[in-house]
Amino acid sequence: MISGRMAELVKGGAAIRAMFEEGNRLAALHGRENVFDFSLGNPNFPAPEAVRRAIAETLEEDDPLLLHGYMSNAGHEDVRARVAASLNARFGTSFGAGSIIMSVGAAGALNVILRTLLDPGDEVIAFAPYFVEYGNFVAGNGGRLVVVPADEASFQPDPGRLAAALTPRTKAVILNSPNNPTGAVYSRDTIAGLAAVLDRWQRAGGSAVYILSDEPYRELAYDGVEVPYVTRLYDNAIVCYSWSKSLSLPGERIGYIAIPDEASESRLIFDAACIATRMLGFVNAPSLMQRAVARCLGAEVDVGAYQRNRDLLYGGLAACGFDCVFPQGAFYLWLRCPVPEKDFVEAARARNILVVPGSAFGCEGYARLAYCVSPDTIERSLPAFGKLADEL
Ligand code: PLP
Repeated sequence: MISGRMAELVKGGAAIRAMFEEGNRLAALHGRENVFDFSLGNPNFPAPEAVRRAIAETLEEDDPLLLHGYMSNAGHEDVRARVAASLNARFGTSFGAGSIIMSVGAAGALNVILRTLLDPGDEVIAFAPYFVEYGNFVAGNGGRLVVVPADEASFQPDPGRLAAALTPRTKAVILNSPNNPTGAVYSRDTIAGLAAVLDRWQRAGGSAVYILSDEPYRELAYDGVEVPYVTRLYDNAIVCYSWSKSLSLPGERIGYIAIPDEASESRLIFDAACIATRMLGFVNAPSLMQRAVARCLGAEVDVGAYQRNRDLLYGGLAACGFDCVFPQGAFYLWLRCPVPEKDFVEAARARNILVVPGSAFGCEGYARLAYCVSPDTIERSLPAFGKLADEL
């Protein structure tokens, strides 16, 4: 008999499977080219050539015993040193190899750090709308997710609302910028405002509250918008990064945790996170991918192509009269449903447009469209959106 919690998750998972199956059903009926699936955040642009070359060179040049063997749970020391140096050059940080733990993507990074920090019943704050897996990650590591309602005018996290959510059980606050699902990039003012609230809380005798900066979309930011480096604005910040989106490698499961020396108990956190990496069964991040990404730290996917997709979809939907949040980053568009959310999602589906309801992200009344699709799909979808707008 599976656990009650897993039984609930299986039921919840049925909705996602149903969406996937609905896509296949519609494709069989109308042809794949007439189904506009904006539901999945799976990158459609291939990994850059530099990554393919780096993998080939790693296989060719690295000592196979080193490449395929066990290593420190934190990952290859030379890889961690290169990641640290690259971050220091970009963000003026002072990381060393001893600040970096290679991880199994951002999901692995978050689970490791939550396992490291949480005692049963500890609270972790997230701002709605939020990546739905946070609930599972936090609960799976014994904690309780506390959701702060969205500021629907800006979709920036509100410092006043953060202050109201803090309790003696608060251990961490998850920030995700550029954001899934809104596409918002949190400004320097926003992050400084949140940091000021947490600093005040800690100075008044509250225990350390860590910001966990979940950054799989850091490199996907448009029009030169700044994505501030959180550890420069708040001492107790820990970065959970992934190359899943910046290098289109989500299936390869590679990322890192960066723990700055300034963070309270940073050495202890590092040591405990190494143990958590083992306990959770990862043991270490995939070795070949560690060594390959270290060879191409400057590479990134064609961010301009995502920006062109954003412009095409945002412009097209605005022309139809839909009210969307203008995405500054990531590859998601957040649409204000002109009718009740359920009716909108159903009406869109009837026109072969698949979107994810906002309530899946803890924020009802919206729909998320993932525009990591081919530009052609967006262009062909616009007449269907036009009809949808007329109908609604
Ligand atoms: N955090 C957010 C906000 C995401 O959107 C995702 C993936 O879509 C993840 C974490 C997990 O990333 P990864 O595949 O690198 O584990």
